[in-house]
Amino acid sequence: MLENVVRDKYERPILSLRITLTNRCNVNCLYCHHDGMVKSKDEMTADELYTICKVAKNIGVKKIRLSGGEPLLKKDIIETVSKINSLDFKDISMTTNGILLEKYAQDLKDAGLNRVNVSLDTLNRKTFEFITKKDYLEDAKKGILKAVEVGLYPVKINMVIMKGINENEIEEMFEFCKEHDIVLQLIELIESENCDDDKFSADYHYKLDDIEKELADIADDVHERKFMQGRKKYYIDGGEIEVVRPVDNSTFCANCSRLRITPDGKIKPCLLRNDNLVELISHVRNGESEESLKEIFIAGINNREPFNTD
Ligand code: SAM
Repeated sequence: MLENVVRDKYERPILSLRITLTNRCNVNCLYCHHDGMVKSKDEMTADELYTICKVAKNIGVKKIRLSGGEPLLKKDIIETVSKINSLDFKDISMTTNGILLEKYAQDLKDAGLNRVNVSLDTLNRKTFEFITKKDYLEDAKKGILKAVEVGLYPVKINMVIMKGINENEIEEMFEFCKEHDIVLQLIELIESENCDDDKFSADYHYKLDDIEKELADIADDVHERKFMQGRKKYYIDGGEIEVVRPVDNSTFCANCSRLRITPDGKIKPCLLRNDNLVELISHVRNGESEESLKEIFIAGINNREPFNTD
């Protein structure tokens, strides 16, 4: 699997590319880190994204994840997926809030999307409104069920755990997931520009260590996903829970195999910083050769440094 793969100077293979298609969103989550992106109005066309993915494929990237903002707000999203799919990646996935997914799930599947992660922190309408400032819980749930129905498999729910908001809802969410054959991903809250003050962290940050210990105690089986930042997968009672803990976690960084692209076409070597971006899209727009675009990718990879170290 790791033939023809480029490694960074820490010997981490670059296996996946996460593309933030847009900064636009139809909700305003109180904690949102906007995929670590600096705000910009620029977006790339389906053809430009195709060129970028083609170069990524040539340097050994196996998986593409489309994110945002809300990726389903991109007008040519189906064409974008279809063009990327023609490059024959091992996996194309999307992270979405699910609100528009009922409408798009079948077309996405037909265009070649393999699977979706849907962000849903609560099944409680009031809590959903508190977190997102919108009353779209039912739309998000319909989107999730449609994704299951059309086979965007495995559908995963991304649940950011926040103290005093939803830490008591994990069991209820897990029951919902088991009922619909969905994998639950519990995500530790990261500081962001929406929540970068100490008070926000003190108010809402919830360490997932204790939850992981409980899961380990009751799990029928546990797997570690090495190239997925060393995250653990717990098999419990016929269901699956994954735990994502990027905060102060050197294992997360040591096993990071992901490069990112910003909506305005820059290579972003790390979720957690913006001082080492590498300009890419102007070179694509200038019609530069694939060989020269490859060199720009390599420059981005050479900028990779683990954010958390021991
Ligand atoms: N709009 C899409 C969505 O809602 O899934 C994609 C963009 S959203 C930024 C991508 C993922 O980042 C979501 O699963 C969201 O829950 C997670 N996320 C955003 N801010 C976060 C934070 N401060 N800490 C942890 N996860 C966060």
